[in-house]
Amino acid sequence: MDGVEVVIPGGFERQGRWRRSVWLRPLCGRDEVFLCEEGRALPPAARTTALLARCLALEGEPAPAGAGFSRALSAGDREALLLHLRRITFGDPMTCVLVCPACGEKLEVDLSASDLVLGPYQYEGGEHVARLGALTVRFRLPTGGDLEAALPLVRGDPAAAEREVLRRSMLSVTDEQGSPVAEVPGTVFEELPGLMAELDPQAEVALEARCPACDKGFTGLLDAAQYLEAEVVQSCDRLYREVHLLASHYHWSEPEILSLTARQRRRYAELVGSATGGAG
Ligand SMILES: [Zn+2]
Repeated sequence: MDGVEVVIPGGFERQGRWRRSVWLRPLCGRDEVFLCEEGRALPPAARTTALLARCLALEGEPAPAGAGFSRALSAGDREALLLHLRRITFGDPMTCVLVCPACGEKLEVDLSASDLVLGPYQYEGGEHVARLGALTVRFRLPTGGDLEAALPLVRGDPAAAEREVLRRSMLSVTDEQGSPVAEVPGTVFEELPGLMAELDPQAEVALEARCPACDKGFTGLLDAAQYLEAEVVQSCDRLYREVHLLASHYHWSEPEILSLTARQRRRYAELVGSATGGAG
């Protein structure tokens, strides 16, 4: 698979080794059509799994890596990969619109996708241990699969969805004697999210901003999946216009044109546009 090697902050175990390096190829027209058409029917976490599954590969293994692999990655690693995907497909600069929570003013923030990706975490391995009072909690970080499993609950009861993600992430909860507790107390559900956020800070991309209208500081969040998908879906008409233009001019087939990356396709469409004097 063509692509670039990228490093994710968390990592994954493969053949007994902890690894952080994966291969990622930029979105091509087929992926854009997927996001504009069937992908829109999927819930967000499932859409991210499907998108990454198409574009990811592992060193020395058949490509693409597939849904099982992208689903098992932590929320933070998936976020990092989406930022890398944005960078290698459309470029590094991003413009994000934040809304001031105090006065509703909208402000545009210029960002760099590569600046938002965190470096490798200080630890290796997928299992963590926390002592909460008299209890020992063994847990792993929430994965794409956990988020997908909680999806049916999200709309009706977001708190239940969060508890479901936590319940799935706990490997064991034991008392001072090492015996599993019959029921996990509420305090564990309260404290675990903070510990997980410390271990996987990439899971939430926070943007510090100051409102130009009311001068209040606030923290906005960037959802990399939402950002990338909106960017693709908003230029869906342009994609079809470019396919039409290239097919008419070069007589390439639709599958051939859709196998180009967005940048390649736009380049050719611009060349055709300037050669024919059209708008492109
Ligand atoms: Zn404001």
